[in-house]
Amino acid sequence: MTAIKPQPGILEIALYQGGQSRIEGVEDVLKLSSNENPFGASPKTKQAIADAIAEVHRYPNTDHGPLRQAIGEVHGLDPDRIICGVGSDEVIQFLCQAYAGPGDEVLHTEHGFAMYRISALAAGATPVEVRERERVTDVDALLDAVTPQTRLVFIANPNNPTGTMIGGNEVARLAAGLPEGAILVLDGAYAEFVEGFDGGAALVDARDNVFMTRTFSKLYGLGGLRIGWGYGPRAIIDVLNRIRQPFNLSELQMAAAIAAVQDRDWAERCRIENARMRVWLAEELAALGVASDTSLANFVLARFADAAEAEAADAHLKSLGVIVRRVAGYKLPNCLRITVGDEAGCRRVVEGVKSFRARPR
Ligand SMILES: *Cc1c(COP(=O)(O)O)cnc(C)c1O
Repeated sequence: MTAIKPQPGILEIALYQGGQSRIEGVEDVLKLSSNENPFGASPKTKQAIADAIAEVHRYPNTDHGPLRQAIGEVHGLDPDRIICGVGSDEVIQFLCQAYAGPGDEVLHTEHGFAMYRISALAAGATPVEVRERERVTDVDALLDAVTPQTRLVFIANPNNPTGTMIGGNEVARLAAGLPEGAILVLDGAYAEFVEGFDGGAALVDARDNVFMTRTFSKLYGLGGLRIGWGYGPRAIIDVLNRIRQPFNLSELQMAAAIAAVQDRDWAERCRIENARMRVWLAEELAALGVASDTSLANFVLARFADAAEAEAADAHLKSLGVIVRRVAGYKLPNCLRITVGDEAGCRRVVEGVKSFRARPR
């Protein structure tokens, strides 16, 4: 036995499982396992990245001023209350590192995003899982789970992998019910897919215990470049900036994000097309006997009869080159999370489920 040991909690972390992207022996793979934008980043965004390459020998700007300015203008937010990170994952990590440690509790919902638990454990804190009601965030259950040790409460709205969402009044009731010293974190990774939704920004403005995270990975099609941001009370932003590495974002990332957030036309077209195909996909699956909750994000959580059927459907789709996401790790063993692809992609999923239903047994 070695005397060399990591900090408490770290060995409890199960490694994050990314969405699979390859199938042995299959050329024409359709990856629908990571909620990526099927249309990719906008042409203007790609051009901005290309233009920024000339300056890669320079260290990047440390305060992200132009990016925060651009985000602030588009969303009507104070740039001084925005912090940018290497994906919103990094902002989640900052929050845990800064506000939760040994003895402290970090609440997350039953089918909540894996990074809340991982970041809480990495900070030495105790993650606490709180039940949902039929795959929907349950505010009463969260309030019941609060203790004097609660420091952070994470909810994603809409949630991943369920796709469900709770209303503004419910979120406000949760924020108002938390004890002093606890922060409500609203993860808005999918907020852009909900028409007219501010992700909770107005609630952040109205209170001093609410923080919002956002990402460029989903609607903006920049998952591979790793850019996210947070919006919160000035005091919290000030704390997070103290632990942020000064050069956490490259100029390539910042140039891409500025172009992406300013290209409203592309963002709007992607949002509308996602909504159209999401409804179509859910209806076609329902007609094949595969139910799903109404999703407000860019994926559908398809429910099968049981875990064995979900596994068989996954294997069948894989044999056709279609990769979706098993979510047994999210305590949904009978479900498959299917990213809404472009029209051809959605048709391929439906044909795949059709042939799964018709297969000889
Ligand atoms: C995808 C996702 C994120 C975003 O992660 P990034 O680090 O910004 O790529 C955050 N929260 C949830 C719930 C997500 O599904």
